[in-house]
Amino acid sequence: MPYTPEYPFRKLDYGETLEVASGIHWVRMPLPFALNHINLWLLKDGDGWTVVDTGYNVQEICDIWGGAISTITGGAPINRSIVTHFHPDHMGLAGWFEENYGTQLWMTYSEWLQAHVAASETVTHNFDRWIEFYRDNGAPENMTVGFKEVRDAFRDPWYRLPETVRRIQDNEEIDIDGRTWQVITGGGHSHEHASLWCPEINVLISGDQILPRISSNISLWYTEPDGDPLRHYFESFVKFRHLPEDVLVLPSHDYPFRGLHGRLDDLLAHHQTRLDAALEFCAKPQTATDVIPSLFSREIGAFEFGFAIGETLAHLNYLVSDGSLERHKDDDGVIRYRRAA
Ligand SMILES: [Zn+2]
Repeated sequence: MPYTPEYPFRKLDYGETLEVASGIHWVRMPLPFALNHINLWLLKDGDGWTVVDTGYNVQEICDIWGGAISTITGGAPINRSIVTHFHPDHMGLAGWFEENYGTQLWMTYSEWLQAHVAASETVTHNFDRWIEFYRDNGAPENMTVGFKEVRDAFRDPWYRLPETVRRIQDNEEIDIDGRTWQVITGGGHSHEHASLWCPEINVLISGDQILPRISSNISLWYTEPDGDPLRHYFESFVKFRHLPEDVLVLPSHDYPFRGLHGRLDDLLAHHQTRLDAALEFCAKPQTATDVIPSLFSREIGAFEFGFAIGETLAHLNYLVSDGSLERHKDDDGVIRYRRAA
């Protein structure tokens, strides 16, 4: 059956809010990227409120939050932020909430640690290692020269990070306003992304794990060259299969939708097409850079190169781990993938 999502609500303007289920308010916020918006959620929680994801650290977003919060909460406390994963569009303002509203951060431990690793810039700004990783995977000089500038354009994406966390774990049940929300963790897009599922009102806050239109970035970093994030991503789908077909899904990008199971099938088919194309292309030994055009039909410039090669490597490593491809570092120091003998 073709995937045909149902979008029950109209698009909101930035800072506009809408109660999409009882006590659950959708807030649409701008982002300073090509992906220009993110969906955040304010949940009524007894005498106070819980915010799910916080937005990117720019002043404009803090200003919009100020208006939206006073409209929705009427000055009631925001006791808790539940953050789905460490990416700065989600976690960027966790510290701002803590500082201004006394909000306690709840998130999975891997994501909290990963935020502190990323914000320390020991890994994200280790340009020599990133460039070496890309060169080992066949990147030409002109694709690595702009790398430092790209990274430097996005410094300080997190407001001061909270130093303490209330850890949440897979399958944990969280009480919000007398309702039980189940934590569903998943890998692939990040290591321990948390979605929240409330059977009582049939609502899933899916974060970036399941998006209705675009596919989440599934990418390999130099820090984990043998990683298999695409397999972790697929494995997470199993945890969503028992949810009802008509569950209202609240994703971090685009719009709330119904059609979860069709979307899971659609995402699997999307990645399978790319896996098939990569395997076909590796009839002769190829570098990850060589394989990029068989996964991305559009032209990839220096700005997008890191995303494209990271995503390509995730597909290639999946094919290595299932025994379809072999990976060798050749005498010229370059890694090539070829069909398994
Ligand atoms: Zn993300």
